[in-house]
Amino acid sequence: MLTLKTPLKNIPKILPKYHKILDKLELRTVEDLLSYFPFRYDDFSQTAEISPKYLNQTVTIEGTVTKTKSARIPRRKMTITEITIEDDSEIPLKAVWFNQPFILESLREGTRARLSGKLALRGKTLQMSNPSWEKADRETTNTGCLVPVYGETAGLTSKWIRWQLKPLLETAKQMEDAIPYDIRQRLNLYDIYTALVQIHFPESREKLLRAQKRFAFQEMFLVQLRTLQIKARWEKNPALQIRFDEKLIQGFVKNLPFKLTDAQRKASFEILKDLEKPTPMNRLLNGDVGSGKTIVAAIASLQAASSGFQTAIMAPTEVLARQHFESFCKIFENYAINISLLTNSYKLISTAQESGNKNLEIENYSRNVINTSRPELLETINNGTIQITIGTHAIIQKDVQFKNLALIIIDEQHRFGVAQRAYLQQETMDVRDGQKKTIPHLLTMTATPIPRTLAIAMFGSLELSILDEMPKNRKEIVTKIIPAKIRQEAYDFIRQQIQAGRQAFVILPLVEDSKALTELKAATSEHQRLSAEIFPDLRLGLLHGKLKSKEKEEVMQKFKDGGFDILVATSVVEVGIDIPNASVIVIEDADRFGLSQLHQFRGRVGRGEHQSYCLLFTNSNTEKALERLQAMEDTSDGFEISQKDLELRGPGQFFGLVQSGLPDIAMEHLSNIKLIKFARAEAQTILTTDPGLQKHPLIVQALQKFQEKIHLE
Ligand code: ADP
Ligand code: MG
Repeated sequence: MLTLKTPLKNIPKILPKYHKILDKLELRTVEDLLSYFPFRYDDFSQTAEISPKYLNQTVTIEGTVTKTKSARIPRRKMTITEITIEDDSEIPLKAVWFNQPFILESLREGTRARLSGKLALRGKTLQMSNPSWEKADRETTNTGCLVPVYGETAGLTSKWIRWQLKPLLETAKQMEDAIPYDIRQRLNLYDIYTALVQIHFPESREKLLRAQKRFAFQEMFLVQLRTLQIKARWEKNPALQIRFDEKLIQGFVKNLPFKLTDAQRKASFEILKDLEKPTPMNRLLNGDVGSGKTIVAAIASLQAASSGFQTAIMAPTEVLARQHFESFCKIFENYAINISLLTNSYKLISTAQESGNKNLEIENYSRNVINTSRPELLETINNGTIQITIGTHAIIQKDVQFKNLALIIIDEQHRFGVAQRAYLQQETMDVRDGQKKTIPHLLTMTATPIPRTLAIAMFGSLELSILDEMPKNRKEIVTKIIPAKIRQEAYDFIRQQIQAGRQAFVILPLVEDSKALTELKAATSEHQRLSAEIFPDLRLGLLHGKLKSKEKEEVMQKFKDGGFDILVATSVVEVGIDIPNASVIVIEDADRFGLSQLHQFRGRVGRGEHQSYCLLFTNSNTEKALERLQAMEDTSDGFEISQKDLELRGPGQFFGLVQSGLPDIAMEHLSNIKLIKFARAEAQTILTTDPGLQKHPLIVQALQKFQEKIHLE
């Protein structure tokens, strides 16, 4: 009998040539395939007769094949397959496919068939190009309904997945539901079986939405359960109390080359107050790119150092870690604080003289940076010589043993979603901080402005500091939508900027649903096109997700050092690094990005003294797309943009679920944060009566799976 655990390899209908591809997608059992969700749907539900009145609409027609033809075009290495089909209207419709001659084995003359696609006019003939099709005596799977489209990889088509999945749906009846019955009743949620059937083969938009709502709820419910569990554990621990030394901090702030914004002042004060408490801080510092989070982090670590305690600062990449190291050395130029940088590539110590001065302040002292070895660096961390250690997130995981670590700062640059953040928090409890009883205070800095309403719903129990004010000296980044017809002017403009000594980014969207182009190909071919046709005399670098992380860092570093004029990068690549000399960022197919993401990219420029520009290239003419992009031209306020994004796309993107491969589609459709509040309330109720979840083994199982899926790299 077929069960959820049956290996896909044992299913005779799945031919051996597919085993490897399935394996690569980590689809091994029936259950895996059932949990492989579509990422979008083609709406072929409108049935119509063949008629010019449906011109340019996507419809499904049914008729009899009256003519067939297949021709090879050797010159273009291509086969064109053509059929003519007629229904009661007696108007012939021509359908054309490229390189799919096998279609004629199924669609012979006299066969009744359904075709779904866009109706076009070629000369005087109605035509569909590359329509989805199936024989009319089949159940509607590829035509005539909402047709699921799956993430495709070479050799595995959506059609194939649909065909395999349908007979397996029965097995979903064996699935046990992780959401307890009474919760489903209360919130009117589909049971797991119904939800799975409707997510794969929705009978209507309404049912699809309900299925998506169920899965969205499930994600949120699990996230909330985990977050609350970790929080409960967290609050049981004491923390080192760090006295607020007002004089020291005032002196430090007074000597900064700029005046702190009110928001920075308030956030710093909130943090310093937290550090005084005997319970560990767990605070999120939420501020736009460029809002000045680093200096707030520095103030907190200065306070820790003055009490003789250590601080660890984690950045998502080596380049960013190094950037922080440089900033901190500069910020603490006149302080007797030793700072180290510990990553795979760097082992640096920046030393300051012991001044014997209680205030840590020393005058006219220049720092000395030395290269050292890993064991030596670990030793200085262990014996307390180093007060501030900066690195990637490995510094709290591996063999690093601190003497008295009191504060951990995570600069996540929106890399982690909420679920990952919860696990990271758990990890910070287990750091070898050198203290028997206490755990370190935790400050997380995120560069995605999260709308306040959402933050409160989501992190109801987390302390929140918000930097909603930009330093005064900022020049506004000029943002312009560039339609195809003025592209050349934009290229000329970029050239002028480069001639004036500046540099530029070109960001390409991730290609998701095209079989023909992988991310790599798209990036490489655009890089080639720009190098050959547009900027043959300039130096262009290329950054894409297929590079090893070391190679990525090298490319970034070379760009930073001025070795390239233009950096072409795919959107999967983190470009969180400061390139003060970059003054232009071009975003290709900007309409394919969310507003928050566009805003993140825009923050890559305008980091130096130069007037900077963000050019949003688009080939779209739809009003909706242009209106969305218009918001980018209109405002540079990250919180305003994220609020708009929340209204347009729902909360999913803020949680990083997209990156973790969870069914973000479910989140995207839900723009109301009620769902999050419900999930939180239900999670809380369960944990009050059953804190260890002993009475909920199915939830424990689901949480385990959830953890595997979102594991930190
Ligand atoms: P982010 O919030 O993106 O991490 P940073 O902390 O890197 O921002 O700050 C960006 C730049 O702004 C830095 O060069 C920093 O020195 C500067 N800066 C920070 N605060 C202020 C301020 N209050 N006034 C002027 N410049 C500031
Ligand atoms: Mg920063």
